[in-house]
Amino acid sequence: MRCFRRLLGLAGPAWRLLAAAAMVGFLAVAAGAGMLAIAAYLIATAALSPPLSALSVPIAGVRLFTLLRAGARYLERYLAHDATLRLLSGLRVRLYASLEQMPSVRFAAIGDADLFTRIVADVDRLQYFYLRVVLPPLIAILAATGLTVFLGLYAGRLVFPVVIGFLLAGVALPLTFNRRQAGMGRKMAAAGAEFNTAIIDSLSGWRELAAAGNTARQIERAIQAGDNLAQAQRRTADLTGLADAASGLVMNITTLTVFLAAAEMVRGGQLAGVYLGALTLAVQGATEAVQPLTAAFRYWGESLAAAERVLSLLTSTPAVAKANGETPAAYDLELRDVRFRYRPDGPWVLDGVSLSLPAGSRVAVVGASGAGKSTLAGLLLRFYDQEEGSIFLGGRKIGAYTAETVRAAIGLIEQHNHLFNASIADNIRLAKPSAAEDEVAAAVRDAGLEEIIGKWPQGLSTFVGENGHCLSGGERQRVAIARVLLKQPAIVVLDEPTEGLDPESEQAVMATLLTNMAGRTTILITHRMAGLAAMDDIVVLDQGRVAERGKFNELLARRGLFFEMWRLEQDVFRS
Ligand code: ADP
Repeated sequence: MRCFRRLLGLAGPAWRLLAAAAMVGFLAVAAGAGMLAIAAYLIATAALSPPLSALSVPIAGVRLFTLLRAGARYLERYLAHDATLRLLSGLRVRLYASLEQMPSVRFAAIGDADLFTRIVADVDRLQYFYLRVVLPPLIAILAATGLTVFLGLYAGRLVFPVVIGFLLAGVALPLTFNRRQAGMGRKMAAAGAEFNTAIIDSLSGWRELAAAGNTARQIERAIQAGDNLAQAQRRTADLTGLADAASGLVMNITTLTVFLAAAEMVRGGQLAGVYLGALTLAVQGATEAVQPLTAAFRYWGESLAAAERVLSLLTSTPAVAKANGETPAAYDLELRDVRFRYRPDGPWVLDGVSLSLPAGSRVAVVGASGAGKSTLAGLLLRFYDQEEGSIFLGGRKIGAYTAETVRAAIGLIEQHNHLFNASIADNIRLAKPSAAEDEVAAAVRDAGLEEIIGKWPQGLSTFVGENGHCLSGGERQRVAIARVLLKQPAIVVLDEPTEGLDPESEQAVMATLLTNMAGRTTILITHRMAGLAAMDDIVVLDQGRVAERGKFNELLARRGLFFEMWRLEQDVFRS
C-alpha cells in the first residue's frame, strides 16, 4: 500500500492529465453505449414506418455518438500516454540524479546488468501502473454511475441487475483472480529481469566466456532464463484468458437479464417497445468499461515488483552527506586519523591514516594489493565518506563541499578508464563539453596522441568502439590523460595508471604523466616502482595504516617494507 501511495505521489503535476484522461475515457464509453442504444432505437422506430422526419434526430444521434466515441477514445489514449511518458521521463531524471549520489559500494552490490534492467525495463513497466491499474477503475466507476442514473430515469427496475453485474465482474471477479494474477505478475517481472541480466552478462562477457570455454553453459543459462520467462508469460496468458472469459460471461448474463426484465416491462406496458433494444444495448455498451478491470490486478502485481526495484534506488540515502556549493580557496589536502570500512561490521580498510599533501606536491601511495590505496582515492573523490577522522581540502572539511565541487577539483586516471562508443574527440571532450577545438587539440598533443591519431584516416572523428576496444591499452590511458589535461584540475589522482601495460608503454605513459602533471598536486597510487624516484614523498600503506614515509632513496636506505617491495620487484624482473 505504501508503494501504491508513493507511485501515486510520483504522478505529481501529471495527475491533472490523468484525471482528464479518466473523464474523456468515460465519455468514450458513454458515447459507445449511446451509439448502440440510439442505433437500436432507430431500427425499432424505423420498423414502425413513421414519417422520415421522425427518424432524422436519431440518425444524427448515431453519427454524433460514433464520431464522439472515436474522438474521445483517441483523446483518452493521447492524454493518458502523454501523462505517463512525462511521468516516466521525470522519474528517469530523478533516478539518474540519485544514482549520481549513490556510493560506488552500492553500485557494485547491485551490478551493471541489474541496474540497467531497473533503469530501462522496470521504469517502462511502471507505465502499466498508471495506464492499466489506476485509470480503468476510475473509468469503470464513472461508467457504472452514469449507467445507473440513466436506467434510474427510464426503467428503475433494471438498475438492480446492472449493479449486481457490475459488482460481480468489476469487483468480485478481479478480487478472486487477484492473488494468483498478482503472483503471476511478480513472477513475470522477476523472470524478465533475470532474462535481461543473463543476456547482458553473456554479451558483455563473451570474450572471457569464450576464452574459458564456458560459452555453452552461459547460453544454457540464458535459454533457461528465456524458457522461464516464456512459461511465466504462458501461465499469465492462460489466467488472463480465463479471467477475461469469466468477466465476459458475467456481463453477457447481465445484459440478458436486463433484456428479459425489460421485455417483461414492455409486456406489462411499463415501457414502450421501441426502448427494449436501446436499453439492452446501452448496458452491453457500458460493459466495455468493466473488461480491463480483470487485468488490472495482474498489472498491479507486475508494476509493484518493478516499482519496488526502482523505488529502492530512489530511496537509497546517499552515504555521502549533502553540503553547500562553495568552492575551495586552496588545494592543500590533509587527512587526520581517517578510518574507513565498507560495512559497519567489516574490518577497517583504512585504520588511522594521517597525511598532509601540500598543493603542488607529488606524492606516491604505495603498498601491496589490498592495502587500501584505491579506497583512499575513493575517499578523496567523495565516492564514500570516512567513518572517523577528517579530510581537509584548502583548510575546510571535505564534507563542506558538494561531491561535484570536489570532483571538479580532482582529476582521476585509473587502470581502466571507461571509454564510450563515440568518437575519440567526444571521449576526450567528456571532461569539458564546452572545450574549443584548439583546447582539444592541445590536450591531444600533450597526451602524446597526436601522432597516433594523425595516422587514422578519420582523425579525431574515429570511433573508439565499445569501451574503446579499437584502441590499445596505452592509447586508452592517453585518452584518459587528455581528459584530465582538458579539465585542468588542481589535484590529480593516478590510480595504477600503467597497470597492465607493457614495460615500454608503461615508461612512455609515465613520462607523459609526470611532464604534464607538473604544478598540480599529484597522488600516484601504485604497487610498482616505476616513476617513484621522481616523487617528493612516498607513503607506504600496509593494511590500512601508514607504515613508512619518505623519499625514494631514504626509504630504500631504511631497509623496511618499501625496500622489500623494491627488492621483490627487482627479483621478478631479473628472473
Ligand atoms: P588496493 O587499492 O590497495 O589494492 P583497495 O583499497 O582496493 O586496495 O582495497 C582495500 C580492502 O578493501 C581490500 O581488502 C578489499 O577487499 C576491500 N574492498 C575494496 N573495495 C571494496 C568494496 N567495494 N566493498 C567491500 N570491500 C572492498
